[in-house]
Amino acid sequence: MELPYAEPYKIKMVESIKRSTQEQREKWIKQADYNLFNLDAEKVFIDCLTDSGTGAMSDKQWAAMMVGDESYAGSRSFLELRETVNKITGFDYFLPTHQGRAAENVLFSVLVKEGDIVPGNSHFDTTKGHIEFRKATAVDCTIDEAFDTSVQHPFKGNIDLKKLENVFNAHPIAKIPFIIFTITCNSAGGQPASMKNIKEVSALCKKYHIPLYFDAARFAENAYFIRKREVGYEDMSIKKIVKEMFSYGDGMTMSAKKDGLVNMGGFIALNDESIFKQATVFNIMFEGFITYGGMNGRDMGALSVGLDESTEFNYLESRVEQVAYLGNKLLEYGVPVQQPIGGHAIFLDANKFVPNISREEYRAQALAIEIYVVGGVRGVEIGTVLADRDPVTRENRYPALELVRLAIPRRTYTNNHMDFIAATLKNIYDTRNQAKHGYTIVDEAAIMRHFTVKFEKI
Ligand SMILES: *Cc1c(COP(=O)(O)O)cnc(C)c1O
Repeated sequence: MELPYAEPYKIKMVESIKRSTQEQREKWIKQADYNLFNLDAEKVFIDCLTDSGTGAMSDKQWAAMMVGDESYAGSRSFLELRETVNKITGFDYFLPTHQGRAAENVLFSVLVKEGDIVPGNSHFDTTKGHIEFRKATAVDCTIDEAFDTSVQHPFKGNIDLKKLENVFNAHPIAKIPFIIFTITCNSAGGQPASMKNIKEVSALCKKYHIPLYFDAARFAENAYFIRKREVGYEDMSIKKIVKEMFSYGDGMTMSAKKDGLVNMGGFIALNDESIFKQATVFNIMFEGFITYGGMNGRDMGALSVGLDESTEFNYLESRVEQVAYLGNKLLEYGVPVQQPIGGHAIFLDANKFVPNISREEYRAQALAIEIYVVGGVRGVEIGTVLADRDPVTRENRYPALELVRLAIPRRTYTNNHMDFIAATLKNIYDTRNQAKHGYTIVDEAAIMRHFTVKFEKI
């Protein structure tokens, strides 16, 4: 008999989670104005709201916390982290920040001006927010295959070179300060970009003298997919693949809450000394002195170890294959999910799941609420609510995809939890024809409304 797969870790500490009844959850979600962000975590059984900062640290990371150096300037923990980042990414300059969006805020304060165009592959919401906040425009150049959830393509996070070159040709180059390449592409379903595509995008950027930056939150998962799916990389170490990926770019912003395997943190790494110097000023203003940038010494210590662990094949295999385990179960049940299964999350296709509910009534939000009510499982809408209104016309923007994301925290839940989630979804899917009505918005913010929006049931 072939031996089955088993996780390369054992559990040293456990945390209780609370069960509840469907009646209780119906009451709680109403009290939360049908916004899952507004729900007390205690009222959730399995929390798949995000994989951001929700993972479990290793014993070695906890050990690093104990020996963190809390000096204001020049702490050993900072120096060690800078060295680790340089070793793993190859970038020369490093600025710590308190999380990923803070890295965006600091870097974009240097790079983005009013009227600028920033092309990329389905920009993450905070990335787009920081671009639009500066009255610039984010242009999505993701390949078309990414927008059809049933098309099989190994690298749906790829950038379409034609679309990108069209953007380069349609605007003065001075108006395009850089392009942002998100690896893996969160908004397109946690889908990776291939090394070939990264290389080609890099060459096109060089031809037009436009810098290439990575939004690198899940760079290690991207490297795992390259190793599994791209010819020529099957025997290469993850660290070597990572180094090659970054060698094609000029810098990166990082949310360490993802592939940094820590609960809080972020950074900027780049090669251009002059941009680094300008960013330093903003870092001091917004984040803190350049040798801590909003992070404790102990947190920087845990991040150094986390970056080393997340770029190991054995860890990545357990992480990515657990997500695939859940995804394959759902496919078995006929539940419409984004394919192939992404690196950090399952994306349910609400357009196919609940077509009876109109898009004007936020069908993906309606599905996310139902998953909570039925199973106590919290996911998040990645659809019309997240897409915000057009900054000029103030009309709803209807994205190609209406998704519900179930993000899997790193090293946190067991495959029994995955089975529980799958059963919850099967039950909802089997009764989907009974769903008729969705929700209406009664209150919302002007930008990034999904965090605080309030709904009423129609
Ligand atoms: C999470 C994330 C960010 C923002 O990082 P925070 O740490 O949440 O501020 C930016 N880009 C991508 C792709 C992300 O997943």
